[in-house]
Amino acid sequence: AKSMPGNSYFAYRSELSERVRDRQSIEVALLDAVANGQLFLQYQPQVDLATNKIIGAESLVRWRHPELGFVRPDRFISVAEDSGMIIEIGRWVLLQSCMDAAKSSAGGRIAVNVSAVQFEYGDVLGDIDYALKETGLDPSRLDIEITESVFVSKQDKTIGILDSIIERGVGIALDDFGTGYSSLSYLSKLPVNKIKIDQAFVRNLPEDQQSMAIINAVVSLSKHMDKKVVAEGIETEEQARLLHRAGCHIGQGYLFGRPLDRKEFCYLLTSYNAP
Ligand code: C2E
Ligand code: CA
Ligand code: CA
Ligand code: CA
Repeated sequence: AKSMPGNSYFAYRSELSERVRDRQSIEVALLDAVANGQLFLQYQPQVDLATNKIIGAESLVRWRHPELGFVRPDRFISVAEDSGMIIEIGRWVLLQSCMDAAKSSAGGRIAVNVSAVQFEYGDVLGDIDYALKETGLDPSRLDIEITESVFVSKQDKTIGILDSIIERGVGIALDDFGTGYSSLSYLSKLPVNKIKIDQAFVRNLPEDQQSMAIINAVVSLSKHMDKKVVAEGIETEEQARLLHRAGCHIGQGYLFGRPLDRKEFCYLLTSYNAP
């Protein structure tokens, strides 16, 4: 029926309602997930590109549902944001990430994703303070990863919160940089310590000259503004070499390690950083 002329509207309608149903069932299941401990964290190494040592990790939330199986964050984070559940999930992610980092004898930094919805409707500062106090983690070991979307509404309020976070000694990384709408000059007004170049610019290296030009521009600007540059999505040695030569400080990607369970990550850390 899909190929019949004039039927595309109905095809669209049914596809749309399927999508809505899909989101609704995810939302219902997600309520359970939080209550029943179906969420867990994985850690992906971040490496100093000059020394090739692991200096920390990004925490990435995972969901294993008893019937749906493994649900990718790309599918449930936006549902959690639309329903507001991300506020509770985000609070848990912060606490659990800080707890795991505080327990690690090897030290290192932990980077935690915080949604724009948490900034607008939650109590990010309160959640961070709670996680730090509860776990005893040194604030200088924590990075908060935000995206440009936090600046879309209530910009002054957001900047105030970011200033307070930095005052505590916690770092701010601007994630997925280059995919949003902010101009490069706008960057100087934002209280952030690190710029994370989106993997879209790394993926097509070394061939893509345009990506390389953008990376060079971001690095040179960041240098002037005293911000560190992180490159994500690094999959090959050649990409790592290029990005290091371009002036990126930190690298993340499958080349150094996939997201791993806490125990696996600790194991990688000790073997990787052994002299
Ligand atoms: P993100 O913050 O940009 O995270 C990086 C994503 O790229 C992760 O996908 C990671 O597994 C993937 N990745 C890392 N290295 C490579 C590589 O070399 N090649 C390729 N192809 N991919 C790589 P993941 O874990 O599926 O997360 C997707 C997105 O979900 C994240 O993008 C982030 O926006 C969101 N997310 C994950 N955990 C959380 C969380 O705790 N809170 C919030 N608010 N969002 C989260
Ligand atoms: Ca991130
Ligand atoms: Ca990213
Ligand atoms: Ca992303």
